[in-house]
Amino acid sequence: MRDAPLYLRPRADPPLASLLENAPFLHSLVDALGSPLNVLLPDVVARNAERFLAVYRRHHLAGRVYFAHKANRSSALVRRLAACDPAAVGIDVASLEELRHALGCGFTGNRVMATGPKDPELLWLAATVGATVNLDSVAELDQLAGLVRQYGPARTHVLVRLSGFESDAGPGGAGTRVLSRRSRFGTPVAEADELWAALERHADSVELVGLAYHLDTTGLEEKGRALERCVLLMDECRARGLAPRAVDIGGGFGVGYVEDAGEWERWTTALSEAVLGIRPPLTWGGHGYGLRNEAGTVRGTAALYPAHRTTAGPGYLDELLSRPAPVLGRAPATLLLEHLHDLYIEPGRALVDQCGLSLARVLEVRPMGDDPGRYLVRLGMNAGDVSLEEHGVLVDPVLLPRGGPQHEATDDRADHGADDSADDSAHDSADGGPVGVHLVGNLCLEGDLITRRLVFLPRLPHVGDLLAFVNTAGYVMDFHAHHAQRQPVARTVAVTEDGGTWRWCPDENYWPITHPQGVPS
Ligand SMILES: *Cc1c(COP(=O)(O)O)cnc(C)c1O
Repeated sequence: MRDAPLYLRPRADPPLASLLENAPFLHSLVDALGSPLNVLLPDVVARNAERFLAVYRRHHLAGRVYFAHKANRSSALVRRLAACDPAAVGIDVASLEELRHALGCGFTGNRVMATGPKDPELLWLAATVGATVNLDSVAELDQLAGLVRQYGPARTHVLVRLSGFESDAGPGGAGTRVLSRRSRFGTPVAEADELWAALERHADSVELVGLAYHLDTTGLEEKGRALERCVLLMDECRARGLAPRAVDIGGGFGVGYVEDAGEWERWTTALSEAVLGIRPPLTWGGHGYGLRNEAGTVRGTAALYPAHRTTAGPGYLDELLSRPAPVLGRAPATLLLEHLHDLYIEPGRALVDQCGLSLARVLEVRPMGDDPGRYLVRLGMNAGDVSLEEHGVLVDPVLLPRGGPQHEATDDRADHGADDSADDSAHDSADGGPVGVHLVGNLCLEGDLITRRLVFLPRLPHVGDLLAFVNTAGYVMDFHAHHAQRQPVARTVAVTEDGGTWRWCPDENYWPITHPQGVPS
């Protein structure tokens, strides 16, 4: 008996939704450029930046949105952001190559912030081009100050990144409770005095412009507390004669990947039931995504990024700024405004929401002998090409039939000739309705699964069809891509829509200008 399909259908807003409706265009791109293929919509990243800035305006706040470059390697996205208002949009780089890339894409040094682990070359280039350095530790500050003293040319703007935000356990409480998880980045708030002393010591070569944090959590409470603590610490800095003026609250605003809350609810409930053995497995090898069965009870925490979000991205920022913070009981937006502090944010994933998709050709469709009614679908891509699973689950791909929707209804075996002999038996055993499939990749590895989930598709795919993985621009499409087995790494193209016509160019050829004939260069 076949299971009722448990869909996790992706959220696709326009223009991504209308791109998905243009299956012939997407097929022609993969025909020409191969599978896998990444498709980016650079105009959407600019629209997303504008949505974050609208939240700033609603709260009367000044400051800048810094794109966390590490979310995507693309040039088109970075160039499109470089063309946005220079006062309002910057870029956050985490390596020497990202800094070089940002500069080459049109960002001037004063729009760049360097975060993360930094080698001396990155520190030198950042200081030389007038970028802001987001410092992790006193040792890094000492190193930067040494470079600035030796090579100049001017005092470097720095933020200091803090971590280990604590809260008092309350009256009679034994000490403090650390609310934010441990981080290898940033200086613990408890050691802030050493930081202030070092900043004073290096005042000839660096200028403190603000305090920063980046918490890898979706928790509003934790983030609100950290934001408020930074505002209080800014007062402490001012009392010492330092003059910071910005609070940088990092990234982590999140993306909603699944459109429908009910689908997400049903799937996570079913996952728990499958872990308990009440229903057949929903994953390859009974993988529990962090959940396990201990004597009939589900234990562990699902290591799942919440794929359905009621608030994410700009909406999440709005909520964070509006929600009263714990100590002073005031909204962070009010605190920032009253102190005339600028707000910096570093969204990665949320800024590239709806900015792209990843396409893969169906290469083989095979019934699973030991699991009647289910199929293995092998794709022209591997797990490195769509790597969401590190943080969450990959949502359902959209099936783009080779011949278009009319074609789908008829028997098209003859059209594919010898190519699809392997899936003839699949055709014979499928009735055309929803079907559970395991998506496997092109590597000679048992573990090369595109997702560990059993994916339900509205019908069995045919060899030659495309599967479109939607909303993959943030960390999914190129973060873990590799050359194992000399399989091709996806090419990336930028697409733009012009009066209903989609045009494309290689990512590296995209510049945010329109030529007289209306074609992006
Ligand atoms: C990764 C990272 C970000 C971006 O995080 P998202 O969750 O993609 O928004 C921002 N700031 C720092 C320091 C990071 O390491």
